[in-house]
Amino acid sequence: MINIKTLEEIELMRESALVVSRTLGEIAKVIKPGVTTLELDKIAEEYIRDQGAVPGFLGLYDFPNTLCMSPNEQVVHGIPNDEPLKEGDIISVDCGALKNGFYGDHAYTFAVGEIDPETKKLLEITKESLYVGIRQFRAGNRVGDVGFAIQQFTEAHGYGVVRELVGHGIGREMHEDPEMPNYGRRGKGKKFVEGMVVAIEPMINMGTHRIKQYSDGWTIKTADMKPSAHFEHDVAIVKGKPELLSTFRYINEALGIETDEELEFRTK
Ligand code: MG
Ligand code: MG
Repeated sequence: MINIKTLEEIELMRESALVVSRTLGEIAKVIKPGVTTLELDKIAEEYIRDQGAVPGFLGLYDFPNTLCMSPNEQVVHGIPNDEPLKEGDIISVDCGALKNGFYGDHAYTFAVGEIDPETKKLLEITKESLYVGIRQFRAGNRVGDVGFAIQQFTEAHGYGVVRELVGHGIGREMHEDPEMPNYGRRGKGKKFVEGMVVAIEPMINMGTHRIKQYSDGWTIKTADMKPSAHFEHDVAIVKGKPELLSTFRYINEALGIETDEELEFRTK
């Protein structure tokens, strides 16, 4: 069942999404070679609690930490550890928060120092594919329209779209209906209506779309050990159109990136 949100609930969800956005902004300030993902996890947990929220992943399905930290060939659900990040790594950071009874869920793949041009392109295209997908999240369109757009855009670059993990509705539960695959067929699946809120989250591999799970029961990595990127936004349908609830603004400020890529999806 799809839980439709009122405008008041959507504003509460924006608050939850912004807790996560600001937390990722703090992480952006301190990601550099030598820092460990466990150190970043502690920073995120404290920062979320300082904002009157609680970490959304900690304890969810028994996940042990605040952040999912997935370097290089890891796709998602990596567990923070005390191994230092190295120059040239990429690290996908996925963060959730619960505030006022609603979840935010939002992810970004960071470069650690200088990365090679091929990997840089993977990050750029994956982030762009997120907006390509969001553009299709409007009243009257269907789940397959978002997936089709993301798949077509990323496969044109020779990349692999992960099949087994998908975006999702979000609200009082972290994972609500509908599932939002990053692949699909135009015009297929559930229809989008006013007040729907979803997390759209392309997980895009440089090589094969195939994945494997580590024996820890969590970590997902690419089957060919090539890098994978992950970007995620929370989006509502307001006045028939996609309205971004989360933002990369704080990350961009921390990294000195100037962009207007979110403008078309923002009334506030
Ligand atoms: Mg997430
Ligand atoms: Mg998600």
